[in-house]
Amino acid sequence: MAGVVMKFGGSSLASLTEIESVASIIKNRLLSTPRIVVVVSAMGKSTNKYIEMAKSVNPNPNKRELDVLLSTGEQVSIALLALALEAIDVSAVSLLGWQAGFNTYGVHTKQRIASLDPARVEHELDLGRVVVVAGFQGLDAFGNLSTLGRGGSDTSAVALACSLHFPCEIYTDVDGIYSVDPRLYKDAKKIKQLSYEETMEMANLGAKIIEPRSVELASRVNIPIHILLNTADTEGTTIMNREDMMLEESMITNVSVLDDVVLISIDDITSQNINVADLFITLAETGISVDVIAQSFNEDISFTISKTDLVEALELISAYKYHVKDDGVKVSVIGNAMRNQSGIAAKIFKVFYEESVPFYQVSTSEISVSYIIDEINKEKIVLALAKAFDL
Ligand code: ASP
Ligand code: MG
Repeated sequence: MAGVVMKFGGSSLASLTEIESVASIIKNRLLSTPRIVVVVSAMGKSTNKYIEMAKSVNPNPNKRELDVLLSTGEQVSIALLALALEAIDVSAVSLLGWQAGFNTYGVHTKQRIASLDPARVEHELDLGRVVVVAGFQGLDAFGNLSTLGRGGSDTSAVALACSLHFPCEIYTDVDGIYSVDPRLYKDAKKIKQLSYEETMEMANLGAKIIEPRSVELASRVNIPIHILLNTADTEGTTIMNREDMMLEESMITNVSVLDDVVLISIDDITSQNINVADLFITLAETGISVDVIAQSFNEDISFTISKTDLVEALELISAYKYHVKDDGVKVSVIGNAMRNQSGIAAKIFKVFYEESVPFYQVSTSEISVSYIIDEINKEKIVLALAKAFDL
């Protein structure tokens, strides 16, 4: 029997009316697809609200307790959606992450899935119920509630799709993935098909459409992910294997922006007698992910982190002499074509030169080039790049 995992994000569940609309979309879908697992996020911006509440009673909240607090958001959503489904005569059951079989490990608030046992979910499907699962959460090996990092409901949804061998549909408040965030560039084009690789790169480099780990998961099992508008009435974007794509590749796929980038430079590491390996190990053990790293001739070492990790990072380097630039953004140009076409980097540098936008660091991957710039130059450079590459 046909099955699907449908994931609804917070913006699709912001009010009770919206929860009712989601219930009727699901009811409709049952006509063609009898086995439905629904993964939900917390309503609207409630996760942000909980984080603020925690910080107002404790500026540096314990992460285990944060997980206990944050996982309540999804618990509210599953109960209300299951009730809304029952109200329109759809048999449904809500399951918390651990009830749906999510075992996790790692640092609290950023845990990873250790294993997923879908037995209970399958049993409920066999009973003819729509299974409504709380995304973003699980239980660690010590029986503690855990969460999977911001945006982690996508990962929950894709993990379930992989283990049930169902396609995964992610419903959101945009009708697909665009070449540039339409809020920054109104003429951006919708992309119909996108490879796992490009999507991962885009997500890692700031496109807020999907959580990057979920794309990696899907690529391993070759499960397609459909990104769709939460009214379910327009064609969205399909994320899939590059080999299976029908469309001709464009030269450059996307310009992505990662906000809230902090650039930390530690002065002359030799004279300060700093062991760089130790420094990065300590940061990693605290769960701080370090992005672009660069070392200059005068032996300063600089790296970027997310603003959310700033307080913790500064504690760890408090013994050293350093500089912080905390109003940065990372602008990236992404496309498979970079693998085999020359002159793309040159063209990007030319745009920066013509727009007189200074940059602090440049990094590259096989399919992207990224620049750390001042936040104030963000819109100007995105517009110029979009025009230069006809996005
Ligand atoms: N509610 C969580 C968050 O806001 C998880 C998610 O939405 O995917 O990050
Ligand atoms: Mg999300």
